[in-house]
Amino acid sequence: MKTIIKNGTVVTSGGSFPADILIDGEKIVSIGTIQKELDGDGEDVQVIDAAGKYVFPGAVDVHTHMDLDVGISRAVDDFYDGTVAAVCGGTTSIVDHMAFGSAGIPLHYMFREYEKLAGGKAVIDYGFHGTMQHLDDEILAELETMMADGIPSVKLYMTYNYKMNDAEILQTLRKMKAIHGITAFHCENHDVTEFLKKENREKGNLAPIYHAKSRPNAVEAEAVERVLRLAKMAGNAPVYIVHLSCKESLEAVRRARSAGQKNIFVETCPQYLTLTEERYLDEDGLKYIMSPPLRTQEDCDALWEGIDDGSIQVVATDHCPFNYSKEKQMGKDDFTCCPNGAPGVEERFSILFSEGVKKGRITLQRLVEVACANPCRIYGLAPEKGDIQPGADADIVILDPDASYILSHDRMHGAVDYTMYEGKEIQGEIELVMQRGNVLVKDDQFVGEKGQGRFIHRKPYAAY
Ligand SMILES: [Zn+2]
Repeated sequence: MKTIIKNGTVVTSGGSFPADILIDGEKIVSIGTIQKELDGDGEDVQVIDAAGKYVFPGAVDVHTHMDLDVGISRAVDDFYDGTVAAVCGGTTSIVDHMAFGSAGIPLHYMFREYEKLAGGKAVIDYGFHGTMQHLDDEILAELETMMADGIPSVKLYMTYNYKMNDAEILQTLRKMKAIHGITAFHCENHDVTEFLKKENREKGNLAPIYHAKSRPNAVEAEAVERVLRLAKMAGNAPVYIVHLSCKESLEAVRRARSAGQKNIFVETCPQYLTLTEERYLDEDGLKYIMSPPLRTQEDCDALWEGIDDGSIQVVATDHCPFNYSKEKQMGKDDFTCCPNGAPGVEERFSILFSEGVKKGRITLQRLVEVACANPCRIYGLAPEKGDIQPGADADIVILDPDASYILSHDRMHGAVDYTMYEGKEIQGEIELVMQRGNVLVKDDQFVGEKGQGRFIHRKPYAAY
């Protein structure tokens, strides 16, 4: 069946302009003023009127943790609940960071597990990032076979139990560069964080605010700086910093780039753009326990500026929801016992439009770059995903820029029992979401089917 979306303002990574979009089956066929050609040609054509609306590419979230097993508990959104929430918020593809498994397992072990977790459940298209938890010759060789299986990226943690040391980081970066892969890093100085946590506990500082005080900006910035130097040593190996949250880290990135280092990619998340550490002093401060922690207004402002000037390429979410009424309460007497993570997959695009575009901090085009096009170029989902162009998948979001509403948990579609943005006024409302030509969301209702998402076989890193 053919669909025509007419009279809207189409927003792409190249700009925005009034245009109609012709879709045939799962693909975008052409963009232009074409309704005349189609009217009355006898074909079965579905017409969607987007007058007065923006027509965006489906958003892509390259940092989620659906159904994540963290040992002490499990993220409450599985691949069904979590992808329903995602698509209701305009996200039509995710790339999920796989969990750690038991010690010594091969990378493919978790891949097989995740195929089972997502298959038959995900309602939108999905890919996975590999997760490194030890390094030996077999794992290094497996990075290549993971690539062949459509997983050209792997994530290393510089903290937590399965953290990788600097020599392992260097070896991974070299290998990933050689096979045209991309290495993602969670950057925090493990030893310093562990020491500060211990010090705070010994002083009886157990409230949520001490989560933030145990992971200060310098803890992140030091790790960012270190990993950038290691990537440079590995011959400008592609390096992707996940959830960069503070000014000092961004300054480290700018310094490395101005010294000529190539292939540095930076991601931040809406919570680091819009929420500050004062939230930890609220009665429900446990809701915001995540790593890195929320920072200060100065950091938020620096991150918006980083998006605006192109220093930050991607805004993802690190969606990792735990119920406030249940799992999060494990931290009520001691912040170190609270599972780390918060929901955000459904809120991201709306927050970026409302707080970013509507408040004049970023342009429409920049919104498409950070939420749609850039993550797809970096992580090998382009040109099928992330932009509106002939030949791309017909993943589309139609948004009414003049509507507004109050964000609240009642409106959310995932399994978790809160949103971090309760009570926030949102300018702009998503009216319709389509994936591969199928309407999945209409009038804030999910109208798709369980299991209709497909695995995305991603391509090698293309920029060098
Ligand atoms: Zn994460």
